[in-house]
Amino acid sequence: MRDIASIDQEALDAAAALLSSAHHAVAFSGAGISVESGIPAFRGVSGIWSRYDPACLDIETFHAHPENAWPVIKEIFYDFFGRAEPNPAHSALAQMEQDGLLSCVITQNIDNLHQRAGSRTVIEFHGTSRRLVCTHCGRLQDFSRKIFDVMPPRCLCGGVLKPDFVFFGEPIPWQAHSRSVRETEEADLWLVIGTTGEVQPASWLPYQAKQHGAVVIEVNVEPSAFTDRVTDIFLCGKAGSVLPALLGRL
Ligand code: NAD
Repeated sequence: MRDIASIDQEALDAAAALLSSAHHAVAFSGAGISVESGIPAFRGVSGIWSRYDPACLDIETFHAHPENAWPVIKEIFYDFFGRAEPNPAHSALAQMEQDGLLSCVITQNIDNLHQRAGSRTVIEFHGTSRRLVCTHCGRLQDFSRKIFDVMPPRCLCGGVLKPDFVFFGEPIPWQAHSRSVRETEEADLWLVIGTTGEVQPASWLPYQAKQHGAVVIEVNVEPSAFTDRVTDIFLCGKAGSVLPALLGRL
């Protein structure tokens, strides 16, 4: 893993120059940006699915047996994710937005860490763990640990609650999808951070942005599906080192 000393300084300078002159820069983050907050990615040897069965996030399995799925969901997304704090990568993006250098963050993550770091315009492509939706009446409610008084958690109407993020077999929330597509049309710079580019349809966004003329800067510890296809500048290293270094040059 690279630290600040081994990040390609020329590439950093080039990325900073492009970001400084961009009119509409958009950040697009994946699980990798939260790894330094202690939340592993889903896949890989130390990924979440090496310890838990992904079936807990299959929508049909959830509807059939919410009483089996909920204890696993609670442990991963509320007990474990709930202990994570934003890291310097989240903070650097929030600062770029405050400085008027970034229009928004589109995130595939459901951990709320961009907002907690201070980012204001965050499009949650896969929804969020901090809200719940009733599978019977559709009512939305904010997360509070009180919901765990009853297992599986229930709405006032008696229906089973589900985290308001996308399970396997569910569509992308239409509002997040249409806002994201609009961003691909408006962006002249697309900053991709910590994503393999293997989860569709989220992975189409950098391609669409590129098609509409955006320059693509990528931050990752290793090449992704995007690197040879759409990336103009690849900043190899941990997001928690690269993004503060980039911010420092703006
Ligand atoms: P992924 O698991 O497919 O890939 C993670 C990527 O991050 C890899 O390319 C890896 O090389 C890179 N990476 C790892 N550590 C990094 C670091 N310190 N700095 C920069 N890059 C780093 O993740 P994905 O492409 O986002 O897709 C998986 C899906 O899982 C997404 O839909 C996401 O919603 C979900 N997910 C979310 C969370 C979360 O909310 N924090 C965690 C796990 C998975």
